[in-house]
Amino acid sequence: MTKQIRPLLAGNWKMNGTRASLDQIKAIAEGVKAPLSERIDTLLCPPATLLYVATALCDDSPLAIGAQDCHQLVSGAHTGDISAEMIADCFGTHVIVGHSERRRNHVESDALVRAKAEAALNADLIAIVCIGETAEERDNAQTLDVLKRQLAGSVPDGSVSETTVIAYEPVWAIGTGKVPTRADVEEAHAFIRGELVERFGEDGKKFRLLYGGSVSGANAADLLSVANVNGLLVGGQSLKAVDFLAIYGAFERQFA
Ligand code: PEP
Repeated sequence: MTKQIRPLLAGNWKMNGTRASLDQIKAIAEGVKAPLSERIDTLLCPPATLLYVATALCDDSPLAIGAQDCHQLVSGAHTGDISAEMIADCFGTHVIVGHSERRRNHVESDALVRAKAEAALNADLIAIVCIGETAEERDNAQTLDVLKRQLAGSVPDGSVSETTVIAYEPVWAIGTGKVPTRADVEEAHAFIRGELVERFGEDGKKFRLLYGGSVSGANAADLLSVANVNGLLVGGQSLKAVDFLAIYGAFERQFA
């Protein structure tokens, strides 16, 4: 049932990448080929400095280009920020909001993440809303409470499955090499699905739920086989084309 949802493989370059890395984007764009690209969506989110040139590079490729964050307002006196409209103006199609690194490093609240997601939707971007518990919260058996609170607080009421994606990223799994058990991923994704159905009805069954946190070519197929996992959000292993394309290959096995 959930495997009928069109999967998404998304890469987040974080604060990595200069013009010298454009050949990696080009290689990914060329490697994301039919027939698999007809069945799954692929996305790369380089730093904002590379956004415009990256979209130009991907003109003839199914690889979409997105951003890692946006401001909640359209324009104004907000030095250093970029708006969702600016991302769309560079032909970006997606934006990640509420990544745990922004929640932690920039003290972003659920309300702010929701406002950013609303700004993304208003600019006709697809919003990827990240949620996930810290190690301490997991140790205190608060995982599902945290997910419930973040979903309720960060996901706009106007969300629909076509334009809002939820990424479950346990904070302790990001960049650490630690991956939750299949059972833990299954429990979290089933819980998220249930919350979305409760709030959005039938459409809640169609939202794409990504898993993120230390995904690699070695564990991608296994993670993709878990119920309600409709794709992956990849950090470190999206930087090099060879690694990202190995994960892309895992989709072939799972979504043949
Ligand atoms: C991320 O930052 O979204 C992420 C999942 O990172 P990594 O794959 O490096 O754990």
